[in-house]
Amino acid sequence: MTLAEKPSGKKLQVSGVVQGVGFRPFVYRLAREHHLSGWVCNTSRWVEIVVEGAAASLERFVQELTSQSPALARIDSLVVEEAEPQGREGFTILESRRLPGAEALIPADASTCADCFREIMDPGDRRYYYPFTNCTNCGPRFTIIQSVPYDRPRTTMAAFAMCPRCREEYENPEDRRFHAEPTACPECGPRVWLEEAGRVLEGDALKAAGKLLREGKVVAIKGLGGFHLACDARQAPAVASLRDRKGRVGKPFAVMVRDLAEAQRLGQLDGLTTQLLLSPERPIVLARKREDCDLAPQVAPHNKYLGLMLPYTPLHLLLFSHAPAALVMTSGNLSEEPLVFTNDGARIRLASLADAFLLHNRDIQVPCDDSVVRPVAGRQVIPLRRARGFVPQRVSLPVDSEPILAVGAEQKNTFCLAWKGLALLSQHLGDLDTVETFDYFQLAIAHFKSLSRKDPQVIAYDLHPQYFSTRYALAQEGVKLIGVQHHHAHIAACLAENGRRGPCLGLALDGTGYGPDGTIWGGELLVADLADYKRVGRLVQVRLPGGEAAVRDPRRMAAAYLHAAFGGDFIRVAREMHFGFSSLEERILSHQLATGLNSPLTSSTGRLFDAVAAALNVCRTRTYEGQPALELEMAASEDEKGYYSVGVDSADGLVVLDGVGLFRETVVDYRAGAAPGRAAARFHNSLARLLTAACVILRDRTGLDEVALAGGVFQNGLLLTRLYDLLIEQGFAVLTQTRTPPNDGSISLGQAAVAAARLEREGG
Ligand SMILES: [Zn+2]
Ligand SMILES: [Zn+2]
Ligand SMILES: [Zn+2]
Repeated sequence: MTLAEKPSGKKLQVSGVVQGVGFRPFVYRLAREHHLSGWVCNTSRWVEIVVEGAAASLERFVQELTSQSPALARIDSLVVEEAEPQGREGFTILESRRLPGAEALIPADASTCADCFREIMDPGDRRYYYPFTNCTNCGPRFTIIQSVPYDRPRTTMAAFAMCPRCREEYENPEDRRFHAEPTACPECGPRVWLEEAGRVLEGDALKAAGKLLREGKVVAIKGLGGFHLACDARQAPAVASLRDRKGRVGKPFAVMVRDLAEAQRLGQLDGLTTQLLLSPERPIVLARKREDCDLAPQVAPHNKYLGLMLPYTPLHLLLFSHAPAALVMTSGNLSEEPLVFTNDGARIRLASLADAFLLHNRDIQVPCDDSVVRPVAGRQVIPLRRARGFVPQRVSLPVDSEPILAVGAEQKNTFCLAWKGLALLSQHLGDLDTVETFDYFQLAIAHFKSLSRKDPQVIAYDLHPQYFSTRYALAQEGVKLIGVQHHHAHIAACLAENGRRGPCLGLALDGTGYGPDGTIWGGELLVADLADYKRVGRLVQVRLPGGEAAVRDPRRMAAAYLHAAFGGDFIRVAREMHFGFSSLEERILSHQLATGLNSPLTSSTGRLFDAVAAALNVCRTRTYEGQPALELEMAASEDEKGYYSVGVDSADGLVVLDGVGLFRETVVDYRAGAAPGRAAARFHNSLARLLTAACVILRDRTGLDEVALAGGVFQNGLLLTRLYDLLIEQGFAVLTQTRTPPNDGSISLGQAAVAAARLEREGG
């Protein structure tokens, strides 16, 4: 600044993910670079900056504050005010201040950055080979935080006193580890060890674990958000034994690979897949198996895809110096139980599953599973499970509100805290039908309330009276309760994620949801905005013979569709198609389908997929939720463009999609000799056409040309892309979910959006 130039000043408030991500040292360096003086300070609500200096430098400073902010930072709002310059000298970082009504955001865990990776691989570095290396650009966050504001004493790293050298880095604004709360080194930080048969092994734990894995053993590995069970993905007996011990029959295992080159050896990676694999969230990414993929077939049976992920902590990176290049890495739990995340929990609950335990003494405060994403056709991303790396990033809602707690559904449960147009969606918690998961659900709600310092007096819940989440909501006293229909919540989640309020046409396609008319919904066409919905169409209804029994046995659904398609003759057709029912089963099914005994009506799309998968003999035994639909998609020949002509009818003022006709055509084609893969593809193509035809009719009636696609069926990449393209061709605007899962994992987000919109309408 020349003497003639008059200094000016500015005061800035920055909010978003700006704490615990190296934001203050970045501001410090930026200010010094532009020869500005003043200070920066973390408050419990935002980062506050006061700067003064030459006007042109100030402009550049403000510009670069957003354009050059650190990798993990996310600025949601920046308020800039003029401020009288005070003639300050130098730039400083002030002590944190607490303001009432704290709203500072907690960052998500981030995978090891390139700088830390270089250090752990460099024999000359003091952090060489140290499995807990991290810095302000990477490392654990959400999983170690006990309370806010985010400072070391309020994390599980409080147990480790920093050595003088770490302290020096931590206090030096020029250092990459300035205020890196979990920073540590071999001198002062956590350590790793290996236990086998209750005994701690001497020597290099990572090397010993690598040796066991090479020998085909199963090792329980404590990672960032919980335990994994690992084994060599190329050794068939090891993978088979892990399946056996875990009680997991067919559901694919995820595979962690040493590096991108190894991922390329196993999967066909397009640009989008590669980008997702390398993203700082490091999710499990579904990638198409290569023809010459040499993994054990038991890793992902009947599946064209592999769930691949790259190592995301120094511990994993270092383990690969010794372990086989591709490791099965499946959640450390018995099937359907919650993830194990404490050393003692692992020693007890994983005792029968693992041959050895790779443990460490950095406690995990909040367990968090791996996230799973599915890239489709190189252009779309379907999040299947939102957890590590993404939580607790917030999702914007198009409606402001007082604090709301939305408790979600039963399967793939998440809950959501929303206030002032922002939604804090919990990590995937799993199915709430065990005592353990339900306990964890309640603990997690308490933790999120305390982190956000919100105690919502409004609770949104699903209308299904049997859901544990519903019972939890109804048991709360002195709060306002808002019930939200399941499929309305699906469409609201899709609208909200896209920043839209509707009205729109909504296709809510899933397995099961509670319908207010006493039938089971799941193939619903709605006209919906955030506050309300009207059902304007559905899939034709069929019986669910034996209720839950038909959900578990796809052959029963095929029988129900055969009954609807071929009438009383259906048992003969079922015999000719070798469904393998016993004569007792045949009698019971005939009776149930003729009388409706214990066989509610359903318009579920998931059940139609089950029926077709069983009829085409693609999948007749279900060992996990969604298996028949997944295997039907995997069986379909993608080049097949043929389809069946099936119509749209109407009944009771509703548009009705002829799912029975679609089933009949598929079965007739198959029995006339069409290969299952061809019939499966034609089924997908026809369903996409049927849905598009229904949307065109509804557009004519309503004038709406925006369509929201939501529900678990849209995890199906083939149906999604076929339908998407047809709708675009017909001139529709199509909304899909790309940040939150289309399955029940985002029901809580939809519930929160609906509740917020209803409160707004009431003027509350
Ligand atoms: Zn780092
Ligand atoms: Zn240290
Ligand atoms: Zn659903």
